[in-house]
Amino acid sequence: MTKQTDNVVAVDIGGTKILTALFDVDGKMLKNTFCLTLAGEGVNAVINRLVSAVKEISPPHISAVSIACAGGIDTARGVVVTPSPHLPGWENLPLAEIITEKTGVATYVLNDASAAALGEQRYGVGTGVKNLVLLTVGTGIGGGIIIDGKLYLGARGGAAELGHMTIEATGRECGCGNTGCFELYASGTALVNHVLEQIRGGKKSSLVDMAGGKLDKITAEMIDDAARRDDKLAQSAIARLAYYLGVGIVNIVNIFNPEMVVIGGGMAALGEVLIAPGRIMVEKRAFSINAQSVRIVIGSLGNEAGVYGAAAYALEKGRAK
Ligand SMILES: [Zn+2]
Repeated sequence: MTKQTDNVVAVDIGGTKILTALFDVDGKMLKNTFCLTLAGEGVNAVINRLVSAVKEISPPHISAVSIACAGGIDTARGVVVTPSPHLPGWENLPLAEIITEKTGVATYVLNDASAAALGEQRYGVGTGVKNLVLLTVGTGIGGGIIIDGKLYLGARGGAAELGHMTIEATGRECGCGNTGCFELYASGTALVNHVLEQIRGGKKSSLVDMAGGKLDKITAEMIDDAARRDDKLAQSAIARLAYYLGVGIVNIVNIFNPEMVVIGGGMAALGEVLIAPGRIMVEKRAFSINAQSVRIVIGSLGNEAGVYGAAAYALEKGRAK
């Protein structure tokens, strides 16, 4: 078998974009392309776009396609069981089987945050770290767990729904059916919602002018900007988010005793202001043996963590055959 035939194509399907990347056998990204998901056009339209992107980026031979996808994924069967709300109509979709039929190669499907954890552990900030937990903090919160150097997927692939651990037992109602979920307090959406509630309740903020008076235009990025320019409401909202993120990280550190907690996702752009309070909380609140051994860091692969992890998963499955 020539080396070229061992290349794999990794795909990260998000609610907005599909990132497709070609990797060589050593896990080096050779090229990548973006296209829009346009999930509203229906499942078949998205799958056709995905297959076109895979075919365009592929050399004549690839050994596998590996897909990181939001939602509850049965990785062993390659089935999207409970999709993300951004992918309507994907319930019980046998994605691996469909893509194998259209491309003729083995296809793997895993949860996007689990893929991101594997990506950061194999090629990013967590290279060489044996026990690592990753949180993707963006619109919601996803999680990925590496135990003893291996991706932990649970009984069916549903492990690491860390965004839905309870953080306020009598708190807000979540779309998942639980109340007080972590992502309702520590995600980008939670940050924006909290700021809107405060402004509507009469709090002053430069964000009203920044958004041209249209409150629904306020984004997490704008709140970060305003905080850097000393806007008190924006600063207190970010401090509140960092507090809740810290509470979640303390739980994770107590349960897993990881060497590293990696923060990825769009909110990771906030950097130290997001994670520094969590470090102090871990020192104060977590079991001391666990607190002593953990580093809390921002991921280094950005929005490519998912494709790196998907590629690693396929390459390792290929080697195990
Ligand atoms: Zn929930």
